[in-house]
Amino acid sequence: MITDEVIYKSGGLTIHRIQVDIPIKALKKINCYLVESGNERLLVDTGMGIESVKRYVDQKFGGVNKVFATHFHIDHVGGAPEFLESGVEVYMSRGDIEDILFLRGSPETYINYIKNIHRENGVPPDLVEVMFAKHPGWWRLVNSSNLEDVIGLNDGEVISIGSVDLRVVLTPGHTPNHACLFIEDRGLIFVGDHILSDITPNIPLIRWDINPLKDFVDSLYRVRELKPKVAYPAHRSIIEDVDKRISELLEHHKIRLAEVLNILKKGPQTAYEVASKMTWDVKFKGWDEFPPSQKYFAVAEALSHLKYLLEEGKIYRENRDGVYYYSLVE
Ligand SMILES: [Zn+2]
Repeated sequence: MITDEVIYKSGGLTIHRIQVDIPIKALKKINCYLVESGNERLLVDTGMGIESVKRYVDQKFGGVNKVFATHFHIDHVGGAPEFLESGVEVYMSRGDIEDILFLRGSPETYINYIKNIHRENGVPPDLVEVMFAKHPGWWRLVNSSNLEDVIGLNDGEVISIGSVDLRVVLTPGHTPNHACLFIEDRGLIFVGDHILSDITPNIPLIRWDINPLKDFVDSLYRVRELKPKVAYPAHRSIIEDVDKRISELLEHHKIRLAEVLNILKKGPQTAYEVASKMTWDVKFKGWDEFPPSQKYFAVAEALSHLKYLLEEGKIYRENRDGVYYYSLVE
């Protein structure tokens, strides 16, 4: 189902929230936003491409001039090929589109790389195979034919719609090049999955050469400095007190980092063991009940916390027979 409502209307700018059902249980819906000024319209995020957001905006609003995807996850960019097919300009951060194209160019290379990270972090090899056997998001992107036509934008670049300028603000963390769009003179910001109202964005480690949690924390401070009045997230409700929500997210990860240090007090452990002992806000009773996809998210998130602590010098790791064990620095 797709529904829409006006959530902002002032001084020649109207913003519609378009809510689209998605088959991701933890999220249920994605918020796409239609930014309208003069006779021009920009769509922020596209849905998964299962229900056609394009058909909806064509019929209801007479189409859009431009599309922006906040990051490369399938619920944000899955509808992009349909827009590209009909000649609509689609934008996303340069880094995120490069990641998609790399994945398309050599999917096996990346899958083997990420499988290896999980194996050497203590995930049982047969579970690694199940985790990555079919990752619907990735394979759908890999199979989309026209994504090389997406226009990559750098930090600070501007998309104009009617009389409104929307500035790209890079906010790495949730993905390595996640991007927000900021309407400075009105204090409005489209935050994708960078800041969510009542769930914490997943900060997975998907590459060992970056420190996603550090990037995420820096990106939270970056948005705070912009002093936005309202943030429009891609899931759940609109955020009226952005500063408060940023404080809560910073506090959340402080607690999580302390929890990881506490777990490691019991001695050297793999990331898989650490993940199994962290507290997860999910409906499953215990770690053994987690389905492979949940275990993937948990391990990837545990890894981002371990990487952060490694870079801070609070822990170290040793390779024992091909598997890393993490320990506290005394
Ligand atoms: Zn996402």
